Amino acid sequence: MTQSVCIFGVTGSIGQSTLKILDRHPDKYTLFAVTAYSRIKELAQICKQYQPKIAVVPESKVDELRTELLALGVFDIEILAGEQGLITVAESSQVDIVMAAIVGAAGLLPTLAAIKAGKRVLLANKEALVMSGEIMMQAARDHHALLLPVDSEHNAIFQSLPQNYLNIERNGQPQLGVSQILLTASGGPFLNHTLEQLHAVTPQQACKHPNWSMGQKISVDSATLMNKGLELIEACHLFSISEHFVTVVIHPQSIIHSMVQYIDGSTLAQMGNPDMCTPIAHALAWPERLDTHVPALDLFTHSHLDFQQPDTQKFPALNLARQAMRDGGLAPTILNAANEIAVAAFLNLKIKFTTIPEVVEHTLNHVQNGSAQSIEAILDTDRLARDVAHQFVASAGG
Ligand code: NAD
Ligand code: MG
Repeated sequence: MTQSVCIFGVTGSIGQSTLKILDRHPDKYTLFAVTAYSRIKELAQICKQYQPKIAVVPESKVDELRTELLALGVFDIEILAGEQGLITVAESSQVDIVMAAIVGAAGLLPTLAAIKAGKRVLLANKEALVMSGEIMMQAARDHHALLLPVDSEHNAIFQSLPQNYLNIERNGQPQLGVSQILLTASGGPFLNHTLEQLHAVTPQQACKHPNWSMGQKISVDSATLMNKGLELIEACHLFSISEHFVTVVIHPQSIIHSMVQYIDGSTLAQMGNPDMCTPIAHALAWPERLDTHVPALDLFTHSHLDFQQPDTQKFPALNLARQAMRDGGLAPTILNAANEIAVAAFLNLKIKFTTIPEVVEHTLNHVQNGSAQSIEAILDTDRLARDVAHQFVASAGG
């Protein structure tokens, strides 16, 4: 029998890589539902090719999708709309596996709905976990959802940790002989830029990552190192470990995807060619393995691996994220919201690249932190932080 899959964000970079894996394994997986926010023509083509039962788009795109599907001769797909449509699919008893690959805070409620419905949830949408932290982790435990990391570093850490590490008691200490997590970072396209040069970089340059091909938002995050900051917070929650035990290591070749150190002096690493199909296949099939098109790593062609400390003067975003994790409560929610606004403003040429961390810092300083006791509190603070960040962007850009 095949397992039934829903892909949130099917038109995105992670969504497309997930389809590649499903293409290879039609005997194991069927696509039940797909969702997209834009690129409706592409979504319609995906519907024609894979014949899912349901497609979800924003309310404003329903007619466009219906027209595109009719033009392609596709008549038997149910179209659902908006956030409620996403939640309906996440909760459907006909879905076994949810790929959470929407970008940003928009993925929070649908991802949480899938977790509360006890699904196997493949988490690419790191912003959702950064925003909601322990609420999401607790929901996974309460509802026996299997929350598996797709982010390449976290997937590597998961592979290098002792079995069952996702389910251990939460006390912030490394356990089962683990001493430290080494979170690797490529350093992004501007690793060797001077601060002067950073002031002048364009969105186009920021979106050209040296090793990975990704959506625009995460590409900019990689360039500012905020991606590593978000990943630091993600790791703390996923692996129940305080930020104190997570060290960021710049490794420009992206061959080692992260490491775990043990009290006996061992360091375990997961390595491979940088292709998201590997962690996606791993999360889909765990504890089994699926073959992918990703070629085996040839160490003779990658005979030189470099490691260095991150430059937090040039890339202050990393320290902002670490401090937000230390402060706890709603600080990561504020950090994430401000960053989303700042990245969008940079992509729209409203602010400079180096203003992005300034927007985040300003917002963290001007929105009251508090306890993240409920999703309502998180969503309220997310909205407030976006307002504050918008105002700062208007003054910084204007
Ligand atoms: P992307 O921009 O390529 O795709 C995003 C998808 O989300 C698209 O299908 C889009 O239609 C949908 N979407 C966007 N806004 C939406 C909204 N408001 N409501 C509903 N759907 C919306 O992004 P991506 O690179 O595939 O990244 C997706 C997520 O995975 C991000 O959280 C990113 O940080 C994470 N991630 C990506 C990579 C990668 O290699 N691309 C690696 C690790 C983690
Ligand atoms: Mg990553």
